[in-house]
Amino acid sequence: MKFDILVVGAGLAGATSARLLAEQGKKVLVIEKHKHVAGHCHDYKDENGITVHTYGPHIFHTKNKKVWDFVNKFTEFHYYQHKVLSYAEGKLIPFPINRDTLKEVFGIEIGTHEVKEFLEKEVKKSRYNNPPKNFRDVVVSQVGERLYEMFFKNYTIKQWERDPEELSPEVAKRIPIRENRDDRYFSDQYQGIPKYGYTKMVENMLDHENISILLGADYFEIKDIIKPELTIYTGELDRFFDYKYGKLEYRSLELELKTYDTENYQPVATVNYPNDYDWTRITEFKHFLDEKSNKTTVCFEYPKAEGEPYYIVMTEDNMKKRKQYINEVKKLEESGEYIFVGRLAEYKYYNMDQVIEKSAEKIIKIYKEW
Ligand code: UDP
Repeated sequence: MKFDILVVGAGLAGATSARLLAEQGKKVLVIEKHKHVAGHCHDYKDENGITVHTYGPHIFHTKNKKVWDFVNKFTEFHYYQHKVLSYAEGKLIPFPINRDTLKEVFGIEIGTHEVKEFLEKEVKKSRYNNPPKNFRDVVVSQVGERLYEMFFKNYTIKQWERDPEELSPEVAKRIPIRENRDDRYFSDQYQGIPKYGYTKMVENMLDHENISILLGADYFEIKDIIKPELTIYTGELDRFFDYKYGKLEYRSLELELKTYDTENYQPVATVNYPNDYDWTRITEFKHFLDEKSNKTTVCFEYPKAEGEPYYIVMTEDNMKKRKQYINEVKKLEESGEYIFVGRLAEYKYYNMDQVIEKSAEKIIKIYKEW
């Protein structure tokens, strides 16, 4: 097999890079340690015709029209706006916090223009560092301690097994606080679920005469015997450098799938469980594509330290180590022989659209347009 460029990993970072390079006429070999493409957004249809996300729920959303146009070349999207409820104090409450959340929690009917003032009073009663230094500070400085404790504190401890004061403010910035009644999880202009699944979308990305794929192949077993012109690496950052600055923490999940003999399990796709039970959330997949079946498949998420690396852990210690590794990455990238991209290789809490955007940016730095 003759190729110019080696892409390590067939997830979104690898598939985007491979596609853009193949379109420039480069011969690309994609190697993937799993026996399937699509990385952690892999999905499949179960025996009831319900599309299950193998590694937990993935909802595509972006503000970036370029990214949206790019993914739309490879799939149609089903129109879907993600809705989440949070199970707190025995009730299912709209989340992220919006005007209706306040109505449920405090029993108050206030207008949109009064929400800001109401939350300011809650914040005033609360203790936090100003300017915010950590996850807790960011949330408390926006909504006060009562709402922080009800919706954020215990979910965060469960998810990260950390005191929220040890986590970066960036993690909290993922969750908006709304004064209006918008109850969508994301407010990005472009949102949806690939109509025929993420796996099919990624297969289409990789379906190009200049791309070859090798599944079930470990890069670290072959890296010393191949010499490509360029290697695009999307695996774990610390592993590439043989952990020379110490191990970076990744967080995993145990996913428990259950199929019930009922049409619907819950009113929306995802219900978060901040304070009760060991799972963080339950997702009912059929909502995503509005699939019809008299059965339903749901997924319980139990966070854990070991296993398939899904999340990076944004503590000071990990970010310090990241910096050391990224200095090495910069040198390798300057040599023109390597590009590091994606959640694992950049050690960044990227969403899917950001993975595509960053991959494309890095590729076009070297190779023309996308
Ligand atoms: N979070 C929370 N309560 C919730 C949902 C999220 O405290 O009900 C916090 C938690 O720390 C979580 C982070 O916000 O890890 C980011 O949430 P998101 O839903 O974006 O997580 P992901 O979908 O990436 O797992």
